[in-house]
Amino acid sequence: MSATRSPIWHPFTQHALHGAMTKIVRGEGAYLFTEDGRRIIDAISSWWVVTHGHCHPAIVAAIQQQAPLLNQIIFAGYTHEPAEQVAKLLLKLTPPGLDHVFFSDSGSTSVEVALKMALGYWHNIGKPRSRVVVMQHSYHGDTIGTMSVGERGVFNAPYGPLLFDVTAIPFPEEGCEQQTLAALQQACEQHQPAAFIVEPLILGAGGMQMYSPPLLREMKRICEAADVLFIADEVMTGWGRTGALFACEQAEVVPDIVCYSKGLTGGAVPLAVTLCRSAIYDAHYSTDRSRTFYHSSSYTANPVACAAARANLELWQDPQLRQRPQQVAAMQEQRIAAFRDDPRFANVRRTGTITALDLKVPDGGYLAGVGPTLLAFFQSRNLLLRPLGNTIYVMPPYCVTEGDLDEIYDAISAAADHVRAKTG
Ligand code: PMP
Repeated sequence: MSATRSPIWHPFTQHALHGAMTKIVRGEGAYLFTEDGRRIIDAISSWWVVTHGHCHPAIVAAIQQQAPLLNQIIFAGYTHEPAEQVAKLLLKLTPPGLDHVFFSDSGSTSVEVALKMALGYWHNIGKPRSRVVVMQHSYHGDTIGTMSVGERGVFNAPYGPLLFDVTAIPFPEEGCEQQTLAALQQACEQHQPAAFIVEPLILGAGGMQMYSPPLLREMKRICEAADVLFIADEVMTGWGRTGALFACEQAEVVPDIVCYSKGLTGGAVPLAVTLCRSAIYDAHYSTDRSRTFYHSSSYTANPVACAAARANLELWQDPQLRQRPQQVAAMQEQRIAAFRDDPRFANVRRTGTITALDLKVPDGGYLAGVGPTLLAFFQSRNLLLRPLGNTIYVMPPYCVTEGDLDEIYDAISAAADHVRAKTG
């Protein structure tokens, strides 16, 4: 593999170490097809977005129907049927208490909106607050605001001076859960923060680190008692990933603000939403124009994206589909059972449809030397798996078959041998 300079600057890609990009010409179900005729299994749903598989016919049809009718309209002061229906269906699917939907276009913007809603709420009720409490190892996006509430490190080192100060509580490692809860309690008492933001049940890009629903419930209870807004970032965990439709539903938690994106359109086109309780909307509802929620992007509630989201939401009305994440979870559990006692791996874990296996290596973490070796090995096996350092995780589309999973886990086992053979 020889490094290439590329006119396109790819995300999270070190071009100086990367060879030519694999060109994909078509996607269908769990598979991607390359220009040179190879079939690749998409074991991570293309950055976790493609929930039902690539090019789901119902979602493609919805896009085709909407595109010639209306494909863009300013959303300040105008509305359209696809957006209205998405809001209606979303409010039906999400817990009672979440009453308003704000549209944006990526996971990052949905989190930015959540943070601005929280600060706007406190400002508009005349009790300004600005501190945000976060969880160690979190990832909420790559904008300045979302990096501020995420883990600090090599990814955001150059921008450090611009990132705002937050209070971080430790991740609830097994056996240390009480320390996390005590730290949250203390942060709430000491700082009177505007909000606590958290990825419910699974910290995704931070290494697929998992914690239990009762802990999430307890965190919500602490925030509620301290009058601190609870923001759930369900950008990754939403749409069946944890087994239930939403992680908060599984933990029986109703957040004050929640962010969804990725699987909102089944992964077909970009769209995101931030839902909130009426108290937050009401704090912005006034004849005083200075209380307006001053946030927008040109493509807010793009009608084609909303049509895709509506089709996705309609798919989720099907009770059979609602069962599917549980089936995929069981299929995944069967595969990882054998790895739980495998001395080549540590901390083999699963929440719902997501599994993660830490390969035992001398230097772990995101920049673990083994990362590129694993990536190249999986590419040679025609698998789209993109380990987070030495953490290999599988998050397949729900149309994945038993045969696909066999192929994926056979390759994971072979990858461990390959790494051992290479490193001695
Ligand atoms: N929040 C979480 C929990 C995420 O996993 C991600 C994306 N991986 C984001 C926010 C940012 O989403 P996007 O990449 O669509 O901006």
